[in-house]
Amino acid sequence: MRKCPICECENRKVIFDINFANDKKVLHGLPEKNHISICENCGFAYACNEANQANYDNYYKNNNNYVEDRQLKLIDNAENIFVPMMARYINANSHIIDIGYGDGSLLKSLKNRGFNYLYGLDTGNDSADDLRKDGIECYDQSIFDEIDDSLEKAFDIVISTCVGEHVFDLQGFIENQLKILKDDGIIIMEVPAVEGFNKVYFPLPNYFNLEHINYFSLQGLDNLFIVNGMERINSAEETIAINTVGEYMLCGVYRKGNAVNITKDDISEKIISEYYTNVKKQKNNNEGKIASFIEKNGDFVLWGCGSYAMQMLVEHEDWKNKIAYAIDNNSKIQKNGFCGFDVFSPQKLKEKPFPVLICSMNNSADIIKEIEKMNIDISYVSI
Ligand SMILES: [Zn+2]
Repeated sequence: MRKCPICECENRKVIFDINFANDKKVLHGLPEKNHISICENCGFAYACNEANQANYDNYYKNNNNYVEDRQLKLIDNAENIFVPMMARYINANSHIIDIGYGDGSLLKSLKNRGFNYLYGLDTGNDSADDLRKDGIECYDQSIFDEIDDSLEKAFDIVISTCVGEHVFDLQGFIENQLKILKDDGIIIMEVPAVEGFNKVYFPLPNYFNLEHINYFSLQGLDNLFIVNGMERINSAEETIAINTVGEYMLCGVYRKGNAVNITKDDISEKIISEYYTNVKKQKNNNEGKIASFIEKNGDFVLWGCGSYAMQMLVEHEDWKNKIAYAIDNNSKIQKNGFCGFDVFSPQKLKEKPFPVLICSMNNSADIIKEIEKMNIDISYVSI
């Protein structure tokens, strides 16, 4: 079983379990259950399971479409929060590498702001050729793959945004970044903040899903760097920010520092327990809505094939016989299907109309607009 990824303590308290749809095309070798746990030593919140880092590397090489709105988050954070704060620590000659650069929006944004030495590290990324045309060097590898000698201590800044919450081996993640970081370099790491879980409500799979397996508070993030001999150099106030979808994010800036001991995180357990109570309350409301929708309409179309839908399918076995087909805008999901259902673009609704159950964490309003625009006479409900 996974030990605490920060302090390696094996003693933990489970707050709740999450089950995922047992679909090989979705799981790609990841376990179908995560125990959301609190480390009894350092207080860090993490998903405990039987996997290892190689399982996650393999998963991301094959498939990375199952966290909804991934791109939206990256663009939002890079442009509005991250870059202006980061600009204080870099200059035009800084060698900057973005670990797991996703759609490349952060690198492009830095390029537009006059930074010249930009690099990205990611596996099987479709954006690589596009970025190369802009003079950004892209390496097709993970931070866990062996690195070329030329990259050792080559960078002034190592950045990762929305990556740390996905990493099984957090120690290895930081150790490998230190190998490519100059001795006086800095590491900037951005992740969702536990501090926000109970402030703005999002459905459970927004924070706890197949891919998100670490839940950082500021103390948790600090502790990860403290055990690696580093200290935070930006203030707590500027580390925690809210992005435009209302999610609280942490963006810590770290450099090599004096050895200090970790401080126990005493807020994560409390906040996550509170949040989970809220989730159960919200779920009760939703169940009533779903039951009357199905009673009235019978068979329906599921719109949204992300982690939220995945979790709802696990909880509603009866949906299997009621879903006519699914809709998602992501072409890869349309190609692969989702949990045994055929997936189409929204246009399918015009050819084959059905009532629509909208299952999206952040895009419900846009989906409703899209349905209204189609001008077809169907009922829909958003959960
Ligand atoms: Zn721990």
